[in-house]
Amino acid sequence: LTIGIPKESYPGERRVAITPQNVQLLLKKGFSRVLIERGAGLEAQFTDEAYEQVGAKTVDRRSVFSESDILLKVRALSIDGADSEVDAIREGATVISFLYPMQNKPVVDRLADRKATAFAMDMVPRISRAQVFDALSSMANIAGYKAVLEASNQFGRFLTGQVTAAGKIPPCKVLVIGAGVAGLSAIATARRMGAIVRGFDTRSAAREQVQSLGAEFIEVEIEEEGSGTGGYAKEMSKEFIEAEMKLFHEQCREVDIVVTTALIPGKPAPKLITKAMLASMRPGSVIVDLAAEAGGNCEATVPGKLAKYHGVTIIGYTDLPSRLPTQSSTLYSNNITKFLLSLVPKDKKEKYYDVDLEDEVTRGAIVTYNGKVIPPAPRPAPP
Ligand code: NAD
Repeated sequence: LTIGIPKESYPGERRVAITPQNVQLLLKKGFSRVLIERGAGLEAQFTDEAYEQVGAKTVDRRSVFSESDILLKVRALSIDGADSEVDAIREGATVISFLYPMQNKPVVDRLADRKATAFAMDMVPRISRAQVFDALSSMANIAGYKAVLEASNQFGRFLTGQVTAAGKIPPCKVLVIGAGVAGLSAIATARRMGAIVRGFDTRSAAREQVQSLGAEFIEVEIEEEGSGTGGYAKEMSKEFIEAEMKLFHEQCREVDIVVTTALIPGKPAPKLITKAMLASMRPGSVIVDLAAEAGGNCEATVPGKLAKYHGVTIIGYTDLPSRLPTQSSTLYSNNITKFLLSLVPKDKKEKYYDVDLEDEVTRGAIVTYNGKVIPPAPRPAPP
């Protein structure tokens, strides 16, 4: 079977779906050919020579699409105009990428028309066995780290405190709203850079995780559990949201940097930071809104852009993993390679893979199969 890796076509995307190291692994595991579009890995610092040295063939874009049985990508295939990637694949090919099927219905329908077998890396169930394929967590970890670096680039002071001959410098104070994978990564990064860090989440399980990173867990008086189906966040009551926003308003007067990561699967991001709160912050303060793509947690966020409001900088970048392209490509490549290898039946040594709809991970991630759109698998009940 031939595996193909095209260059990402989304504007500004620097990641590549596979590293030379994983090309080598796939060839060793029996896949017959790996075709990679020339220059596909360059922005992530993987040269054509590095791919060729491990046995991949670098080819033009058209050949990757027309000769591959399995396509590995970061972003969903495009369906626009003459450059439609879905229309360029072989009929019946397998495609593995981020897909967000609920938001990308026209792409999903077109993939089904082309009789493609499509897997969405974002739909891999987040169970222990599937942690090695969990690309959402890999990318969220990077986004949290990069959020703090971007904030510190905009912030006019050190994050750490210092006593110098020229004066005493107080440590910067950081508030992280939402302590999921990205939030915890932001907390750990800000702590390592010497900031005083506070964390908040609606899920009670987050308290211990925040504290174990050396940050303070701040709370509201209302008792309401935020953990919903499968351990994900649920929408909170109006009273709870009001109480947390009151807490954030008080915090905004004290802190220098706020990283917001609050998301509820399938819903728009809750608006938690108002313009009035921004106006109460010290000039030079920075907000990083990691929920920007889902509408943003902050009223002044402009998705994809850097905005200013009352002397506060609001970072709404939606491509933070792509801004650390070597790291994000390496982790994504490990996730997608292990996912593909998990489709190879254990009891067979042949060079092919199998779609076992009884397998929880396969069933969770599959989006189209045999010309049909497969409805999402039911999510497990909360523990
Ligand atoms: P996410 O990106 O969907 O959401 C980010 C955080 O925002 C969550 O922690 C959520 O509780 C919080 N949030 C939602 N509404 C909020 C509000 N109004 N105020 C403040 N915070 C709010 O979450 P995620 O990072 O993908 O992870 C969510 C959960 O899944 C966590 O419990 C995590 O440990 C778990 N998880 C499990 C696995 C696994 O078992 N393989 C992998 C990854 C994540």
